[in-house]
Amino acid sequence: MEKSLVVPLQYLKGIGPKRAKSFNKLGINTIEDLLYYFPRRYEDRTNFISISKLQEDQTYTIKAQVLARGERRSFRRRGFSIIEVAVGDSTAKIFCVWFNQPYLKEYFKVGVTLILYGRIERYAGRLQMNSPEFEVVSSKSDESLNIGRITPIYSLPEAMTQRRLRQIIKYALDEYLPKINDFLPFDIRSRNNLLNLAKSLLAIHFPDNFEIQKEALSRLSFEEFFLFQIPLALRKVKKKQRKGIAHQVEGELVANFITGLPFQLTRAQEKVIGEIKADMAAAEPMQRLLQGDVGSGKTVVATIAGLMAIQGGYQAAFMVPTEILARQHYDKISAQSRGVRLGLLTSSANEKEKKRMYKEIAEGEINLAIGTHALLEEAVKFKNLGLVVIDEQHKFGVGQRALLPVKGANPDVLIMTATPIPRTLAITLYGDLDVSIINELPPGRLAVKTMHFTQENKSSAYEIAKDQLRQGSQAYIVYPVIEESYVLDIKGAKKMYSELKSGEFKEFKLGLIHGRLKQSEQDEIMLKFKQKELDLLVSTTVLEVGIDIANATCMMVESAERFGLSQLHQLRGRVGRGRQESFCILISDAETPEAKARLEAMIKYNDGFRIAEEDLKIRGPGEFFGLRQSGLSELRIANPLTQMQLLKKAREEAIRLTHLDPKLEMRQNGLLKEKLLQRFPEYEKLMMVG
Ligand code: ADP
Ligand code: MG
Repeated sequence: MEKSLVVPLQYLKGIGPKRAKSFNKLGINTIEDLLYYFPRRYEDRTNFISISKLQEDQTYTIKAQVLARGERRSFRRRGFSIIEVAVGDSTAKIFCVWFNQPYLKEYFKVGVTLILYGRIERYAGRLQMNSPEFEVVSSKSDESLNIGRITPIYSLPEAMTQRRLRQIIKYALDEYLPKINDFLPFDIRSRNNLLNLAKSLLAIHFPDNFEIQKEALSRLSFEEFFLFQIPLALRKVKKKQRKGIAHQVEGELVANFITGLPFQLTRAQEKVIGEIKADMAAAEPMQRLLQGDVGSGKTVVATIAGLMAIQGGYQAAFMVPTEILARQHYDKISAQSRGVRLGLLTSSANEKEKKRMYKEIAEGEINLAIGTHALLEEAVKFKNLGLVVIDEQHKFGVGQRALLPVKGANPDVLIMTATPIPRTLAITLYGDLDVSIINELPPGRLAVKTMHFTQENKSSAYEIAKDQLRQGSQAYIVYPVIEESYVLDIKGAKKMYSELKSGEFKEFKLGLIHGRLKQSEQDEIMLKFKQKELDLLVSTTVLEVGIDIANATCMMVESAERFGLSQLHQLRGRVGRGRQESFCILISDAETPEAKARLEAMIKYNDGFRIAEEDLKIRGPGEFFGLRQSGLSELRIANPLTQMQLLKKAREEAIRLTHLDPKLEMRQNGLLKEKLLQRFPEYEKLMMVG
């Protein structure tokens, strides 16, 4: 933005070193940061409601005078203090109550006028306001920022009051708004009906009415989305400009593979394969994200893409997050595709094996290399890498994902995820990728029946599992940790394995698997399970992604409250892969509202897209995408879920801009460029590289 706002806070009236420090703790270092420190909510203090009209279970802001105050000790809890203050206006009076904050008392002198914000509740037959937020109205100073208007309420820095903060922000607005030049070019603003920056900043803090506040919100959200989209859009343009490989997509290898499959591809798979084929045939490098619910059959699609590269003489690499999954893909693809030489590379291979693998990959002996992040090691060099597939991409960081493609000369890239999100959101968040979606499961799959049991009723849960085992099916039971924790009071897989083996499940054959076992041991156990030598697999989340064993029909998750929603859905995805009815049993004494919401969502929805939406709602976009989209957690005011339209517009503008002026050299884009470089310093490099 305007350099004029990148000024240390201390320059502002009312801010000394001490105040500056408590602002700094919240990341507010400059005037700009302060102006972008938005209210967390507003109170309409233009008209206050009469106390006589207050109703139970509603939240209000009232203005009233202190009539009396008192303090007492709780009967039930010793040492617990309760302050009661009777306040009234011309219509009625009401009690306000604060718990265990005796120091508040001094504010409530009789005769003082208060503004109170809180919920009205009934207690012992009378209405009262519990622990309201309050402000003391001054009879001496100017109250125009605090009363008689829509008033902003902020999250407060240490040792700061709402009134003081409003005053400080007002100073900043008065002094700096006249100096602001809007960095959003005029034509973008007018095309999208956006308020200018100065007006928006004023109206977001001190709106004259809620309409203008909304307009300000739109403008400021647009700006966040827009800045976030520009680097993505530019990256996409750049990638497309590079010269990639035009693969020989028609050929025997692919045709034979498809005829050899024991099933028909679904329509959704066919469609996605068509999209990938078009990309791979073209000389532009493919950058595609493939989304599909757990069990939708992404592996086959990726394998076909691999064969398209291989039949033209190129190599393909599949990177997956766990060794178990690498092994599974390796076994499955080996069985399905003749005439292709596969290599398996994981960190647990010994030096000799690794060396041999490196050599064979480098010499082009191996057509398809499957592995974990071990593929990223320096020593891995390809002869002619033509396709990179990254499975379960959410398990890798952005940085890791970028490391594999550079081992080839602009290979095609296919990124796969089983945490699907709504299409518009996917397109905007992964703005540098094209998006394909498998929106259909193979036919004949039954919805997994999901149930919740408390710890107390666990034995009924075990009965369901045993029932499945007796019918010859297999089951998993997943624990959040390997070793149990007394502190957190959670059971661990190891101890429970021995308990279950000699107790509840002693008539069955049990196996134990977790991440601390040697790879060879893990492989052996998975193999035994696959060959039905084991009935019940006691495990940790090493099973979370990808495992595909159709005879398993029961997934039990212990301490289910400790897992995220998408994680639970992934675990559930380990069953329901065959034609028998399957069960997902969540055992939990969930107490927090979020944990309860997750369990409810699991019971209500089977569809991964719905689950992801719920997960996004529960966690918020920043948490949901975590570090993977670190830019997202920087969104302060914009919300991709509730402002999808605005996000779309911002993206369209970003794409338009990167086509018209990729280096932001035009005069009208000068301020924008400054702002962008301030926000994303790495953008400079992005603009320069070819
Ligand atoms: P995911 O998308 O979760 O990675 P997988 O690729 O592991 O799913 O596929 C799940 C199972 O469905 C596999 O056993 C696979 O062989 C099978 N499968 C894939 N496509 C089809 C299809 N069109 N019809 C029947 N089964 C299929
Ligand atoms: Mg998979």
